Amino acid sequence: MSTASSLPIVRTIGDLRQLVAGWRKEGHVVAMVPTMGALHAGHATLITAAAEGGARVVTSVFVNPTQFAANEDFGTYPRDEAGDVARIAPAGGHAVFAPGVAEMYPEGFATAISVGGPAEGLESDYRPHFFRGVATVVAKLLLSCLPDRALFGEKDYQQLLVIRRMVTDLGIPTEIIGHPTIREADGLAMSSRNAYLSPAERAVAPKLHQVLAEAAEAIRGQVPPAEALIAGNRTLDAAGFKVDYLELRNARTLAPVADTGAEPLRLLVAARLGKTRLIDNLAV
Ligand code: AMP
Repeated sequence: MSTASSLPIVRTIGDLRQLVAGWRKEGHVVAMVPTMGALHAGHATLITAAAEGGARVVTSVFVNPTQFAANEDFGTYPRDEAGDVARIAPAGGHAVFAPGVAEMYPEGFATAISVGGPAEGLESDYRPHFFRGVATVVAKLLLSCLPDRALFGEKDYQQLLVIRRMVTDLGIPTEIIGHPTIREADGLAMSSRNAYLSPAERAVAPKLHQVLAEAAEAIRGQVPPAEALIAGNRTLDAAGFKVDYLELRNARTLAPVADTGAEPLRLLVAARLGKTRLIDNLAV
């Protein structure tokens, strides 16, 4: 274990278990915030929320290769461990778990967790490998740390539901807590991938949230959802987005919506702006 400004940086599962065992002996509640690093104010808010009530917080920083397809941005995903470590202590975190790929996927690794239900459709239609990679790595992170609770952002809404499903189904003894999306002042959801946007794309990017907000308002005002979604698609097309999906779903199951009056609703969108793929979602 090494430390930076008194923040322990743990590289192995064995060291993580030892650190957490020490906290447990002292009677602390333990919380975890899994991330892929390139931390921004959204991540920092999750860390601060995780520490509420005096919990000891492990923030994991691991760019997980198995959730990227060969043609995706694993190689170029922003990495800044020193910057991440500098953000974690002020946010209220107590340790960083930053394993290497060989620690998470030692030679011969041959297990994967495949979630159905909320993992079906939406992101899976465009990134079929994605939730298998996420579920497997999150399960391993949670089992390595065994936190009382783990925080995930609603920014990745489908991922949050997939992780809840997996933790329930596998009996992992961790409470999964969703945290509302943290946005820039202009409404753009904070994301490590926003760093890819050119200045011109960055200027257009908040349209994604605006379209969600307008569609949500229209649907609340009894505009038929199909109509609201067509209008949203048109606006995004005109702004230069290539829309993967813009959909209205049941907020609890992500099933297509049968009765807008009876269900809690969530709008979800994924769209590409140049080479950058952005996702966002909003409660209706
Ligand atoms: P990532 O590093 O992008 O994998 O994100 C790590 C965690 O932070 C995930 O649970 C994300 O949902 C969450 N997160 C990322 N961006 C935001 C945001 N803008 N607001 C809230 N949570 C976020």
